Amino acid sequence: MLSRVLSKQSCAACKFCCSFRRQSLWETPLFPPEVVEKLSKPNEYGIVGEFATVETPQGPSAGRLVLEDKFRTDDPEEEVPCTFLDPHKGCILKAEDKPFDCSIWPLRVMNKGGELVIALTPTCPTIGATPRPELIALLKNGLGAKIFEYAKTHPYIIKEYREGFPDYLSLAREQ
Ligand code: SF4
Repeated sequence: MLSRVLSKQSCAACKFCCSFRRQSLWETPLFPPEVVEKLSKPNEYGIVGEFATVETPQGPSAGRLVLEDKFRTDDPEEEVPCTFLDPHKGCILKAEDKPFDCSIWPLRVMNKGGELVIALTPTCPTIGATPRPELIALLKNGLGAKIFEYAKTHPYIIKEYREGFPDYLSLAREQ
C-alpha cells in the first residue's frame, strides 16, 4: 500500500518492523479471525502460529501473535522475529493473509483523545520521523480514507495514541 514511498527492496533489506523487543510487543500484528483459524493449525506455509484473542467492545475479535515465550535473555534490547518472517525472503505470508497493520506500517490508526488519527511510527529507518509531503499526499488521495474505512470495520487495529507519533491525518479534520 505504501510502495510509492517505501520500496519493497528497502523493506526486504531492513525487516525492522517484523522484529520485536519486549517493549514493542504492543505492536505485534493483529490477525483477523479467519486468518487465525488458518495459521493456528498446519497450513500451506508449514509454520503454525500461536495467537491470543483480543476482544474489542464492538466489531470482531482479533488474534495477536504471541511472541512472549520466544525471548531467550533478560536483555531489553533482545529482538524476536515474527513467526512468519523468513530471514532471507522476508514475510512469507501472501497478501490475503498478511495483517492490515503490516501492510500500512509505519502508519498506525490511533485514538487521540477520542479523535481517530493516522499517525506515523517514528522509528521506520526508511521513512524517518518527519512527515514527508509524498506520504501526506498519498493519504489525502485515497489511502487515508481506505485506512479509516478498514478501522471502522476492524476496530481492533485502533491503538491508543502515543506521544512522539506525528499525527498525519485526522478523521475529524477530513470530514
Ligand atoms: S506478518 Fe509478515 S509483515 Fe507482519 S510482522 Fe510478521 S513477517 Fe512482518
